[in-house]
Amino acid sequence: MSRYFGVIMMEKKLYIDNLNIFNTLECNFRCNHCMLGETTHERISTEVLEKLFENILMIGVLRFIGGESLMSLETMRETLRIMKERRIVVFKLRITTNGSLYTEEAEKVFDEFSEYIELCRSKYKDFMDDFGIRPTQNVGLIWSVDDYHQEYFYDEVCKVPSLARFYTENMQRLESSNHFLDVRGGSGLFKSGKAENLEEALDEVDNYHSYYYEDDDMMFVAPCLNVLTDGTITEHNGSIDNLKTRFNYGNIMEEDLREIIRRKLEKTNSFKEFNDKQYEEVGRFNSSNGFDDSLTR
Ligand code: SF4
Repeated sequence: MSRYFGVIMMEKKLYIDNLNIFNTLECNFRCNHCMLGETTHERISTEVLEKLFENILMIGVLRFIGGESLMSLETMRETLRIMKERRIVVFKLRITTNGSLYTEEAEKVFDEFSEYIELCRSKYKDFMDDFGIRPTQNVGLIWSVDDYHQEYFYDEVCKVPSLARFYTENMQRLESSNHFLDVRGGSGLFKSGKAENLEEALDEVDNYHSYYYEDDDMMFVAPCLNVLTDGTITEHNGSIDNLKTRFNYGNIMEEDLREIIRRKLEKTNSFKEFNDKQYEEVGRFNSSNGFDDSLTR
């Protein structure tokens, strides 16, 4: 078994199935239901990003989460820069947005991500097949137009015609972009507004997330890992207060990400075995001393 892992095994790196990065907690909307609680000006720093990517080898789906994540294109660019520098493979990028800030500059950032993802996919097609990663759209922007977002847009933004025009132009640009994936509506979960029923909502998904890993040396983390702007490792789509307390598993600025995950795994006793084909594919992936140099631009 160990011969297949080589460098990966020795370096104890991570494959993260779904990595959600809170790149900013800022938002240009003030929706009544907002799960965040009070929005702040916190953004993820280069130091936190560098630390996060220290031991990551591959990512199935990368997501930027906010706040309104498009308020901080520079942290997205910084993420891509570090990933290219460290040759971290990524197969998809997904972003949920309120749609109002899809500028030409944002389109360029996602073009760059798409180009890099295309390169990763071309190098690791077999890996994707063997791990069941479907080659859907490289970059996918999901426009969240639930009742509360619309309420804010029509009741507040439209009072300022120049702002309404700017936001509407951006929304049109988003809808006609190659990276546009979907529109999401609905607001059932937060009926009482301002996330007053959040505890109840969280209870319902409490057991949904679990982590699996194979071997003591190569960790596969699934289905989801969230990183807050300050480096807190968490899960759940809850209020910032809850993420920083109830679902706080540790901070990568103080402790190795692998140790945080390992502790969580031991607690939940979640283990999963690779099948033979997957071992073989990881071996092929690793046979040229890890990553292909051409991933560095
Ligand atoms: S719900 Fe979304 S768009 Fe509305 S204030 Fe919160 S983060 Fe911003």
